[in-house]
Amino acid sequence: MGDVTDFPTEFARALPKAELHVHLEGSVDPATMLVLAERHGIEAPAANEAGIREWLRFDGFPSFLERYFWVCGLLKTADDFAHIAHAYLSHAHEQGAVHVELHVSSSYHIVEREADWSEVLAGVVAGCERAEADLGISSLLIPDLSPHLGADAAHQALDVVLAELHPRVVGIGMGGPADNWRTEDFGSAFRRAREAGLHTVSHAGEHGPAWEVAHALDEFGAERIQHGIRAMGDPDVVARLAEEGVACDVCPGSNLALAAVPSLDVHPLPAMLDAGITVTLGSDDPPLFATSLLAEYENAWNLCDLDEDGLRDLAINSLVESFASTDQIEAWLDA
Ligand SMILES: [Zn+2]
Repeated sequence: MGDVTDFPTEFARALPKAELHVHLEGSVDPATMLVLAERHGIEAPAANEAGIREWLRFDGFPSFLERYFWVCGLLKTADDFAHIAHAYLSHAHEQGAVHVELHVSSSYHIVEREADWSEVLAGVVAGCERAEADLGISSLLIPDLSPHLGADAAHQALDVVLAELHPRVVGIGMGGPADNWRTEDFGSAFRRAREAGLHTVSHAGEHGPAWEVAHALDEFGAERIQHGIRAMGDPDVVARLAEEGVACDVCPGSNLALAAVPSLDVHPLPAMLDAGITVTLGSDDPPLFATSLLAEYENAWNLCDLDEDGLRDLAINSLVESFASTDQIEAWLDA
């Protein structure tokens, strides 16, 4: 383990980098929560940012979900979505991100909340466009399907997403493992997404076992895996990730906060790198996990005893594995 104080924060900040694993709804910071609560006359659990930050400290998965859904309940209008997209992209820009792929919980908005997806999308896109104009930061969108709602709901959400494909919508994701992956046909939804020209990614191997990662590769055609840390439990899956060059978008702070690992000291990130798996770093739901993209670079620095070249390699991975255009990626790499 390196010395925490050695982390070269400004060097890491200056590295052009992409963030490929962050959820729009989970990116809302305390200041923005207070603005939205005020806007909609919703009682906030605390009066100021410090109080909200304190309230966000959860003590288990149920209280995490309670907080996550309280934040989701603040999101009602296109302006709300524009505000949170712009706020997070500004925050990412301050940390040296040149490109962000925002996961958006499409199943939640379309199926659970029965919201108007056109309005959600228009708002998010407006926030992305404003951030690009103000700050030059690039962004793409990955609507996520939620497996716990079942395959019919996944197709229902996909129907709506495909009916109004915006150029910023670049892929379809799977928003989290559930126990119905092998009993329901989610693969057909991912085939439809690919036929429509979209990339496909999937959460897998976070809390669940290594077979989820193989299933996501075989059935969903996943080009990147979100988390994937439990792939390390099966050497065959590890070999596949390394040989097929499928990147894992890893978030150590999230894994610790949700007890997917008992402590950071035993996080499998070093083993993943040693095994030749391509890793990118993400912050997942940063205010909920009291983390940030740069904090994840610091976690990697400490966990893997990295030097500056090691940090640069992780930043390069994030650019190369992104769904930005080849020309754009080359421009960032040459910067
Ligand atoms: Zn995630």
